[in-house]
Amino acid sequence: MNISSSERLYEKALGFMPGGVNSPVRAFRSVGRTPLFIDRAYGDRIIDADGNEFIDYVCSWGPDILGHAYPTIISAVQKQCESGLTFGACHEGEIHLAEKIRSHFPSMEMLRLVSSGTEAVMSAVRAARGFTGRDRIVKFEGCYHGHSDGLLVKGGSGLLTNAIPDSAGVPRGYTENTLLAKYNDLSSVEQLFERFGGDIACVIVEPCAANMGVVPPAEGFLQGLRDITARHGSLLIFDEVITGFRLSIGGAQQYYGITPDLTALGKIVGGGMPLAAYGGRHDIMECVAPLGSVYQAGTLSGNPIAVAAGLAAISELEHRPEIYAELDKKTVQIESAARSAGLNVNRCGSLMTVFFTDKKVMNYDSAVCSDTQKYADYFNYLIENGIYTAPSQFEAMFVSAAHSDEDIAATCDIIRGYK
Ligand SMILES: *Cc1c(COP(=O)(O)O)cnc(C)c1O
Repeated sequence: MNISSSERLYEKALGFMPGGVNSPVRAFRSVGRTPLFIDRAYGDRIIDADGNEFIDYVCSWGPDILGHAYPTIISAVQKQCESGLTFGACHEGEIHLAEKIRSHFPSMEMLRLVSSGTEAVMSAVRAARGFTGRDRIVKFEGCYHGHSDGLLVKGGSGLLTNAIPDSAGVPRGYTENTLLAKYNDLSSVEQLFERFGGDIACVIVEPCAANMGVVPPAEGFLQGLRDITARHGSLLIFDEVITGFRLSIGGAQQYYGITPDLTALGKIVGGGMPLAAYGGRHDIMECVAPLGSVYQAGTLSGNPIAVAAGLAAISELEHRPEIYAELDKKTVQIESAARSAGLNVNRCGSLMTVFFTDKKVMNYDSAVCSDTQKYADYFNYLIENGIYTAPSQFEAMFVSAAHSDEDIAATCDIIRGYK
């Protein structure tokens, strides 16, 4: 039997990296395949090492909202490269990007650029603790906030798939201040505040959960969190690493009209380069060094290439405000196709997940009712028909502005044919 290039590369990679990958969900383990090795990508297409071309609905897990290899982003990066890859010092682009971010996220009165979503969230939580002088935090079952120690408790994403409730290597003490609540269940939050109110620095939430599959917030849920935290002098952190610049140019906070105290951004904000940001109220951010005593730093923070990519991506979104309505329309088409095939779908804007359970998926408990073997069958059907989606049940399907009407129609036809 012929061995494909992806299989050959995977065999090699296994000798160098755990599971052959640099991030666990890439390993395709939960769908029983070997991972594809990607050679190149353009627009809504991704091409593997064997030259197979797929319509891509992973979009690098969100950053590629404009599609792959977007021309203005590529040229901004190329231009910046000629002036040096990193300075480890201040440069003007940082101010432009901060200004752009704040213009769309007015709640981020002051902000810091960092290099990954994990770092942004970890730093926001540290700022919240520093500002309030409290240690405990509340997170929701099934929400994923990156892989920092204190947040690896009932995370979603790769953790759910591999059924690791917590990670090994995280000492108990690191998570003992992390309290767990149920998504879309305000009473679970009220109970924690009744017990620990004065000790809770913050509530951190994905304003639309997308790492246990897509689970939109129920009516009143986010407002409830806003009210409860305000009443207890606790801070509300929106982890908008996925939703920022996706649900709307101003993220979930604009989309739902709820103002958090702190926000973490990642993915789209870097235009495909490693860049993320956290920020919020002036008085909180003034606690961060060198102004205040909350330490946070980074050799490559505000990297000029990444800043150039982020600026180009956001500028394009500003110039094409119609993108968001178009993304919605495309995703609704796919949602309808999936429903007509009898599938259970959750959708929020251009984020969507098909679940294999009869239950309405509202939280972690209902998400894990989904039959992951059936998801694997669905994934395999799609990939064999030229459609690349998340190789795990507990992820989102990402639609981009580059998805052409023809490709959306072709995708819908294939999904409708699923039995
Ligand atoms: C992806 C993600 C993170 C982590 O970002 P990385 O850049 O992978 O470290 C954090 N929070 C949410 C909601 C995410 O989707």
